[in-house]
Amino acid sequence: MNNSEFIQRKEAATPRGVGVMCRFHIDRAQNAELWDVEGNRYLDFAAGIAVLNTGHRHPRVINAVREQLDRFMHTCYQVVPYASYVELAETLNARVPGDFDKKTALFSTGAEAVENAIKVARAATGRPAVIAFGGSFHGRTMMGMALTGKVAPYKLGFGPFPSEVFHAPFPSASAGVSTDDALAAIHALFKMDVDPQRVAAIIFEPVQGEGGFNPAPADFVRGLRAICDQYGILLIADEVQTGFARTGKLLAMEHHDVCADITTMAKSLAGGFPLSAVTGRKDLMDAAAPGGLGGTYAGNPLAVAAALAVIRVIDEERLCERAIVLGDRLKAHLHALRETVPQLIDVRGPGAMIAAEFSDPQTRKPDAAFVKRVQTLALERGLILLTCGVNANVIRFLFPLTIGDAQFAEGIENLVDVMREAATQRQALVV
Ligand code: PMP
Repeated sequence: MNNSEFIQRKEAATPRGVGVMCRFHIDRAQNAELWDVEGNRYLDFAAGIAVLNTGHRHPRVINAVREQLDRFMHTCYQVVPYASYVELAETLNARVPGDFDKKTALFSTGAEAVENAIKVARAATGRPAVIAFGGSFHGRTMMGMALTGKVAPYKLGFGPFPSEVFHAPFPSASAGVSTDDALAAIHALFKMDVDPQRVAAIIFEPVQGEGGFNPAPADFVRGLRAICDQYGILLIADEVQTGFARTGKLLAMEHHDVCADITTMAKSLAGGFPLSAVTGRKDLMDAAAPGGLGGTYAGNPLAVAAALAVIRVIDEERLCERAIVLGDRLKAHLHALRETVPQLIDVRGPGAMIAAEFSDPQTRKPDAAFVKRVQTLALERGLILLTCGVNANVIRFLFPLTIGDAQFAEGIENLVDVMREAATQRQALVV
């Protein structure tokens, strides 16, 4: 089936709600490269939306999964358990920030981890309410949508959502929201909408992912911790997108001097296999009654084998350090572009969780059209880029951290070329 036949069949057979970015379909992939069925080659700077920090088909991940395939594929952990689940729980208990005893439960998707973190927080506190942030993304399940701080497209037509969810603004220099503004908004919620004694948890992303790669400032994270401590509220760090070396640390909360009580993880945890985890304070994690947590596929043995291999690869290949090296290189190129690309107003993010934000030089309004143009031109040259941001005016970079120097340089060269081209085209239109 060639690419155009594929598009026709896809459109006839699958709903438009499952939006698809590329108009080609994949044949095979290796590390940071993929090839479509017509033999075209692409550099993958999207990595399945932050899932492939260890690249496509890392040989050690393949071997671990292959060995597991030869032993057993599924039992349902709640029926017949396996040691690898416990080994991964022990590893995450030791590696998730927080100098306290922890326990871990495994699930399949990021949204499911978020759902279960909220279940645990409610069971442990006996309180109903949850506070989340504008621009956040926490998944497409009902609670995930309720928590997500962006209506279109995620919530359109899908309500009503679970109640007792409140939103405060997230700090963002480009949106003009300071740490003080954001913390004051939480206190305002306590005055206007919800008694803090009824709040079970505050959930936040250490770096907002879909919302625009906005890092939570250190004083904001400290402020959240102080509010939680004052009112007996639990702090949940959603590390689904930030986790597993992307920010230059195994988990992004390692950049902070305070800890979350509960952490959600997924995506790059298992290098492409569906696996998520909730790690939290031991006493909290034990609040749910036996049978209250889990799922038929939760902690699938193939995915768990992959995750144990992924964590070993991150350690042995020093991918946290590599994230910083690659991120610094990319940032230097982006900063150098600011002279020729006046639309580029901000370059930000820790480690390799880098974003470039664009606005119209004349109106200074977010320039989603420019970003779309860069993304399209890049794809024509074989570079897969993702956008993000509440105004869709941000390009985010999610290349595998295992990418080789030559391919990284090639990707950057293409990026620089298409940004310049898009800026020149825009200039020509204005003149
Ligand atoms: N939380 C965050 C921070 C995410 O970035 C995402 C996915 N983009 C999710 C939750 C939901 O994960 P999933 O798509 O695996 O359900």
